[in-house]
Amino acid sequence: MKPKIAIIGGGLAGCEVANQLMMRGFKTHIYEMKPEKFSPAHKSEKLGELVCSNSLRSKEITSAVGLLKYEMQELDSIVIKAALKTEVPAGKSLAVDRERFSEYITNTLDQSSNVEIIRREILSLHDPVLTPYDVLVIAAGPLISEPLAKDLLNSIGEDELYFYDAIAPIVSADSINWDKVFWGSRYDMESKDYVNCPMTEEEYYRFREGLINGKKVEPKGFEKEIHFEGCLPIETMAQRGELTLAYGPLKPVGLIDPKTGKSAFAVVQLRAENLEKTMFNLVGFQTKLKYNEQKRVFRMIPGLENAEFLRLGSIHRNTYVNGPKVLSEYLELKSLKNVYLAGQITGVEGYVESSACGLFLGLYLASKFSGHKISLPPKECALGGLLSHLREEKKDFQPMNVNFGLMAPLNIRAKKSKRREMMAKRALKYFEDWKQGLGIK
Ligand SMILES: Cc1cc2nc3c(=O)[nH]c(=O)nc-3n(C[C@H](O)[C@H](O)[C@H](O)COP(=O)(O)OP(=O)(O)OC[C@H]3O[C@@H](n4cnc5c(N)ncnc54)[C@H](O)[C@@H]3O)c2cc1C
Repeated sequence: MKPKIAIIGGGLAGCEVANQLMMRGFKTHIYEMKPEKFSPAHKSEKLGELVCSNSLRSKEITSAVGLLKYEMQELDSIVIKAALKTEVPAGKSLAVDRERFSEYITNTLDQSSNVEIIRREILSLHDPVLTPYDVLVIAAGPLISEPLAKDLLNSIGEDELYFYDAIAPIVSADSINWDKVFWGSRYDMESKDYVNCPMTEEEYYRFREGLINGKKVEPKGFEKEIHFEGCLPIETMAQRGELTLAYGPLKPVGLIDPKTGKSAFAVVQLRAENLEKTMFNLVGFQTKLKYNEQKRVFRMIPGLENAEFLRLGSIHRNTYVNGPKVLSEYLELKSLKNVYLAGQITGVEGYVESSACGLFLGLYLASKFSGHKISLPPKECALGGLLSHLREEKKDFQPMNVNFGLMAPLNIRAKKSKRREMMAKRALKYFEDWKQGLGIK
């Protein structure tokens, strides 16, 4: 007997789940609330809608997102297929005609006898309409409708579901100028938990000016309510008073600069993002500064003059779970058997990443119901690196784009461009081996 599978949400991830199952002869029902109800960002009745930019970012295989797209294409991703069929010129990026893109996805699924699209909002996981199903996939995205979000909250606990992200930038370790920074935690200079970037008084005031005058992103109408005291944008804190930062996230107390033997006027702290310490986040630097402005202003921090930003900061409405806490390695809710999550709601970030997550879940479910469970993709490839973000517990779990820092480190000293080339080459080999070993068609 084949299982009855319902997918809640016909966005990028939901469509990928359905496509992988459909290709292997499994039937799914997609419950999509549009056009009965639209989230504040969705406008089209079609499935697989791109809510903002029409770009799926870099095509270059030496970029992490280019690599991820290549791996997805190798696994018959419907999103990549649609993108290649509806591509518009955009240099080294893969940009699409968004209408035709969504149309391709909607038609492909709609025309399959293995997929039924039901236009209906699911209000709760206990909705009687879901009773006949053996497996539920929640792929309702970062703007999941409120009743379902509340129901999910009850199932997993309110500490593990977030409604906004307050993301601080991440820099690569090898782009830090290690001559200017030092290790140590407050009152424990032996510790290697933080990297400290000391600032003189002059540097501090110049940096504060940069934050205040930097161009900010205007919040969208439905995002205006965000202003928790606990995660104020760094530039808002700078605006509050001359020394607010120096007494707040940049306070230097308990930190002695080994070069001067004294406390600096202010200190920006960086915290490791992974065990390998190849990536560091700027502690307390959630921000609404525009991306280019972040690069310009944050490179004023001593030690970060040439920083490579693996992720930039942001604050926006985004519903997502604490993936490592609530999900199994195959994206099943630990608290609810046979209920899986896919897409941005798991804690990945971005069109391509959300799609990749759905693709993996669809592939996994198809393999499971065919009688053999696939192994996880290795951390050497882009898909493996991305999914590892959802497994590795962190103090402050935040959504993440795919990047080389998530992948297994190379442990070879080489120029950034050379190292990326080597990582990409290694990724292709590991990915190919994993794919060969999957044992499913
Ligand atoms: C405003 C905004 C702008 C973004 N811009 C970009 C960008 O430019 N580039 C980028 O890479 N990423 C962007 N993202 C991030 C993210 O990649 C996208 O949101 C992406 O579409 C997520 O894919 P998904 O499949 O998880 O969710 P979605 O594509 O949002 O799909 C979820 C689907 O579930 C449906 N749904 C929700 N609740 C229910 C319910 N209760 N019952 C039935 N159906 C339901 C929705 O109508 C929707 O169709 C943006 C996110 C937001 C919120």
